[in-house]
Amino acid sequence: LTEACLSAIDAADALGAFVHKTPDLALDMARAADAKRGPDAPSLNGIPLGIKDLFCTKGVASQAASKILDGFKPEYESTVTTQLFERGAVMLGKLNMDEFAMGSSNETSTYGNAVNPWRKGNSDEALTPGGSSGGSAAAVAADLCLGATGTDTGGSIRQPAAFTGITGIKPTYGRCSRWGIIAFASSLDQAGPMAKDVRDAAILLEAMCGHDPKDSTSADLAVPDFEAMLTGDIKGKTIGIPREYRMDGMPEEIETLWSQGADMLRDAGARIVDISLPHTRYALPAYYVIAPAEASSNLARYDGVRYGRRAKLAQGDGITEMYEKTRAEGFGPEVQRRVMVGTYVLSAGFYDAYYNRARKVRTLIKRDFEEVFADGVDAILTPATPSAAFPLGMEMDDPVQMYLNDVFTVTVNLAGLPGISVPAGTDATGLPLGLQLIGRPWEEGDLLNTAYALE
Ligand code: GLN
Repeated sequence: LTEACLSAIDAADALGAFVHKTPDLALDMARAADAKRGPDAPSLNGIPLGIKDLFCTKGVASQAASKILDGFKPEYESTVTTQLFERGAVMLGKLNMDEFAMGSSNETSTYGNAVNPWRKGNSDEALTPGGSSGGSAAAVAADLCLGATGTDTGGSIRQPAAFTGITGIKPTYGRCSRWGIIAFASSLDQAGPMAKDVRDAAILLEAMCGHDPKDSTSADLAVPDFEAMLTGDIKGKTIGIPREYRMDGMPEEIETLWSQGADMLRDAGARIVDISLPHTRYALPAYYVIAPAEASSNLARYDGVRYGRRAKLAQGDGITEMYEKTRAEGFGPEVQRRVMVGTYVLSAGFYDAYYNRARKVRTLIKRDFEEVFADGVDAILTPATPSAAFPLGMEMDDPVQMYLNDVFTVTVNLAGLPGISVPAGTDATGLPLGLQLIGRPWEEGDLLNTAYALE
């Protein structure tokens, strides 16, 4: 299996999904897995996976797709990848992504973009695989690996999953340890699996989550057997359809997909109810204040001393020039934009007007969800994205247009809830479209089972 994946990866270089291949390591891990075959083999024994470049992997380049981390090979392994490898998973290599996970198209990567394996009808125009976990999505969709890790700060697992016709789940904030995952916005970041279907996602998620004393926000809760919860029985469940997600100018095919999804859940025995999440329209602006604020603080550590790359200095340059030149050369334009926005909203004169206000909005958004869950709603159904995958290059000149990709996904991160994207149909040109289900905190098992009924 590992050999088959390695040759598929070599044959698919044009997709730009893998940015560091680790064939020797993969074959060693596969041999070790072979030696453990049998009834007592661990749950992922010999299963070849791709790992997003945001995860620190011991002795293997881990660059968050940024030039500033050129040559960085961590001395340690992230908790999530440690857990996957302890269960026998094989690492095929590191996967492309947007730089520091900032983006929705994989185009901010220092390696260049990954490409969506899907095409619109008969056109050969290259499309984005989505972002930031674009390499993970492309690799799973093109059968280069059996599953991949992703991370999701505002939609980076769910949007690329929707764009490539695969399944991706972002668990409740605190389910997976963030230890060893390069930080973007610490109060929003969560790891999760990207997989072929709901069952694979359930198996991978179980391996990835669990309490970790090294991450103080990781929850000390038992991890259920998610796969065993996939019965497809959702009789008596209440599914909410939030009216605020019906946006002006939403393409008709997304509307249709959404109502077909609701019909499928109704046919499976669920009760469909209209609900209101009144603060939804403030989610995107709040996210694009909070995420850059936290990013600007997290990225302060890239100073040309502690990690990765330092710019060439001229005679007489001091420490200020070292910082300036290193950061100007090492960070791409989108990362620089976030650092500028973040430091601005955190600055003394604007802190209350922007950052504190965004935090208040975040609380209101969280309460919207708490109220509907208290009213008996078990899960919420929405489109995963406002469109199908778009052509590469199309939205790069317009950051606000790019940010609008996250309109259905950021609320989930702001509220810390679990969210899953499942393939649910195609647009008129045959491109995959995804539906999102949002669940109650810590109830990933139920959420996966509802998604299983949609599959
Ligand atoms: N596209 C969003 C952003 O650029 C979300 C990214 C993510 O979830 N990592 O911030």
